[in-house]
Amino acid sequence: MLGESQDGPSPEGDHPPYPVGLRLAGRRVVVVGGGHVAQRRVPALIAAGADVLLVSPQVTPALEGLAGEITWEQRRFEPGDLDDAWYVVAATNDPHANELVSTECERRRIFCVRADDASAASAWTPAVGRHAGLTVAVLANREPRKSAGVRDEIMGALQDGTLSARATHDRTPGVVLVGGGPGDPALATVAARQALASADVVVADRLAPRELLDELPAHVELVDVAKLPRGRSATQEAINDVIVARAREGKRVVRFKGGDGFVFGRGYEEVLACQAAGVPVSVVPGITSSIAVPAAVGIPVTHRGVAHEFTVISGHLPPDHPQSLVEWGAVARMRGTVVLLMAVHNAGAIAEVLVAGGRPASTPVAVVVEGTMPEERTVLTTLGALGADIEAQSVRPPAIIVVGDVVAVARPEHYPAPEVVVPERTSHAAGDAPAGAAGGTGQD
Ligand code: SAH
Repeated sequence: MLGESQDGPSPEGDHPPYPVGLRLAGRRVVVVGGGHVAQRRVPALIAAGADVLLVSPQVTPALEGLAGEITWEQRRFEPGDLDDAWYVVAATNDPHANELVSTECERRRIFCVRADDASAASAWTPAVGRHAGLTVAVLANREPRKSAGVRDEIMGALQDGTLSARATHDRTPGVVLVGGGPGDPALATVAARQALASADVVVADRLAPRELLDELPAHVELVDVAKLPRGRSATQEAINDVIVARAREGKRVVRFKGGDGFVFGRGYEEVLACQAAGVPVSVVPGITSSIAVPAAVGIPVTHRGVAHEFTVISGHLPPDHPQSLVEWGAVARMRGTVVLLMAVHNAGAIAEVLVAGGRPASTPVAVVVEGTMPEERTVLTTLGALGADIEAQSVRPPAIIVVGDVVAVARPEHYPAPEVVVPERTSHAAGDAPAGAAGGTGQD
């Protein structure tokens, strides 16, 4: 028989906890303690809309940063703090203080979790994950590592589609323009995977991560753009036609692209085509190869004191081409990083105009071929030798060409040390960036 006891919660015996979803919007939740446990719990409580009262003489800087969204009483706990509470988190590092809170909760019949002693608590916090409007909560019998592990497996399976939550997917007809990242399927976003899992039709580019397409269920129609008839504009019209036609048939169409769909991806042409046809269209941003591919081989596009700008340029036209929209002379006069896409063919000519315009021929250059993919390789060279090295090393697209001293920062064994200009610390007006932010303190 389980009975009430004055000196603590009822013994649980072997009874499993009874799961429930608390709807805390607008309801008072009291968090006692301002350390790392509170720091993990409070953001989730805020996200649930709870009216959080935090009681603690000291709090972590992260909690202090939340002060505008919660009420913080900077003192020790008093029983009156529980007056309007629906739910309580006892998370001090002092077991006696937690005991005091949970005993008072027990007396008032308020459920209370305890950071120090789950067996003495009336409620437990599950390991939580969220996916496409689903909340996954896992409780292992007071074994947080186990519950987190199971939660991670469920979340992973939901995200990669191994575990299908089809009933929860958005099935509205229309087109979703999805950026798939640079190639490694691990660099596709959760939103990209969700969109793929909800598709009736997937129209995929050559550079979209192929491995994710293998995971598509058999009923999904796959249109491979690489196999459409050749010729750039004809291909684009055919793509526009197919996405609009399928959406008009009531299908949910995912237009799946490499990197980000709006970075040299002709994505906005497809948005316009959908709008012109009256077909609903939405956009899932992707991780663009222009930043991610250099990062994946350890090259930063900016570095404090070395590069305060980076410019991403399409090199698909040679510099002297009448339709070129790039001011190569201006680019040559800048000192920051230049990231060239679609530039393998014209690399030599581009290097020449950059040198002619003032960039030293010794400027370090990295050519990253098939970045983040199994055949990835990096060719290190200089602006002066770029054209010849592309030939000599048989570089073929897709490749990203990174021009600038950041390459020397990342490959010091290969290049002389670059000049580093460390900004002096200056005071800024209130509300401005922290001193030295132009060089990237990384604090924002
Ligand atoms: N929308 C894409 C870029 C499309 S343009 C994005 O945001 O990443 C195509 C060019 O991108 C290629 O010619 C190449 O220069 C570059 N690129 C894309 N993926 C790449 C990869 N995995 N490795 C190297 N270069 C890549």
